[in-house]
Amino acid sequence: MPVADSSTKWVDELFTSSIVPTLVDYIKIPNKSAMFDPEWRKNGHMDKAVELLAGWAKQRLPDGATLEVVRLGERTPVIFIDVPGTGGKAGDTVMLYGHLDKQPEMTGWRDGLGPWIPVIEGDKLYGRGGADDGYSIFSSLTAINVLRKDKVPHARCVVLIEACEESGSYDLPAYIDHLAPRIGELSLVVCLDSGCANYDQLWSTTSLRGLVLGNLEVSLLTEGVHSGDGTGVVAASERVIRMLLDRLEDSHTGQIKLAALATQIPKQRVLQAERTAQVIGDEVWNKFPLQPGVQAVSKNNVELILNRTWRPGLAITGAEGWPTIGNAGNVLRPTTKLKLSIRIPPRVDPKAAAAAVKAALEKDPPYGAKVTFDSIGANAGWDAPEMAPWLDQALEAASQRHFGKPAMYMGEGGTIPFMYMLGEKFPKAQFCITGVLGPGSNAHGPNEFLHIPTAKKLTLCVADVLATHAQQP
Ligand SMILES: [Zn+2]
Repeated sequence: MPVADSSTKWVDELFTSSIVPTLVDYIKIPNKSAMFDPEWRKNGHMDKAVELLAGWAKQRLPDGATLEVVRLGERTPVIFIDVPGTGGKAGDTVMLYGHLDKQPEMTGWRDGLGPWIPVIEGDKLYGRGGADDGYSIFSSLTAINVLRKDKVPHARCVVLIEACEESGSYDLPAYIDHLAPRIGELSLVVCLDSGCANYDQLWSTTSLRGLVLGNLEVSLLTEGVHSGDGTGVVAASERVIRMLLDRLEDSHTGQIKLAALATQIPKQRVLQAERTAQVIGDEVWNKFPLQPGVQAVSKNNVELILNRTWRPGLAITGAEGWPTIGNAGNVLRPTTKLKLSIRIPPRVDPKAAAAAVKAALEKDPPYGAKVTFDSIGANAGWDAPEMAPWLDQALEAASQRHFGKPAMYMGEGGTIPFMYMLGEKFPKAQFCITGVLGPGSNAHGPNEFLHIPTAKKLTLCVADVLATHAQQP
């Protein structure tokens, strides 16, 4: 029994009257993840965000449900909501997961927009963290409340909202251990922190990439010297760093050279990539804010999809040791330091990958340069377990009903560290991973927006999936 037809309007009105206004307040809070705000405890933004979201949820707890803000020592907090089942099997639990910490500001926001400035334009709510992943607690709880309102049975649910995701979820394992007796045995995980390739249908994520993060520092001088004096005698640290990066990546193709960072792509995932390419076509590359005349790295859309989901890729996300251009004298600088963000495919061991990167960068330093690579985090990717037929059918029915189009499956290029942890801990659990991060939504970049109609439809889809889940023998 799915939710009532009238629930579409009910969800619509709740978003308008309450959810979107609360998200507007949420966007104003600069609660950057701990990695980007080491003073987060003192600054108090995270507590303010927790208070706002937990406060909203407390007003709307289903009958019998409890909410606790769990705090283990100095760790980032977790919101934990326990909702007793009205159906489903005894001892069977669904986890609905999301996060409330945010990425840092990033530059390049359009005039009038900004990370902490909520702006509603048509269907879109602009601002940092609305889509990634502030809306998740609202959608998760609302999906359950729709079922309660329509008297549609659901299994016991726990909603877990963490505050450390954008830092690699390093606080989460401790909470999972701590909460294990209260979580119980999971048969289904719903995660609303992922992406969609368009806003026209329900997209399920079948894989996620992992991430190796680290700082590469190269130094040949103990202090800067006149560049007219030094060039030609001492190698520039930036040239040495280019040589080192060439060990990781073919700069002509972007291909990562280290075997430890590659994996065999499963056949089924290649087929899904082919099907996705048929549905979204050039959207795979033209969704990006390209400068006029810029082309993607390949003309083959299937290859592009596989590149961003099942192959490693390097981005340099920060630099130190450089003055700003206005302050740059003619100096051979002593040190160049880069932050490397290396996506790794599912099924690749992140620790082994980080060790391979470190070994490749640090061995035989050119000119005897002082070279260090300090790994600051390594998270595994994730490959979905085989989908149970009931879930496959539930996703299809939900997509047809609420979007009017078939459900689709694809891998995602980003990382949600918790999915791997859950997959390891609950090998029998099914995963429904979806999200609103579609074309242009630009999580982590400037001009991030939440596509409000998609958030509403996803909420209804989750409700229907929970309803079908509770009917399984
Ligand atoms: Zn996220």
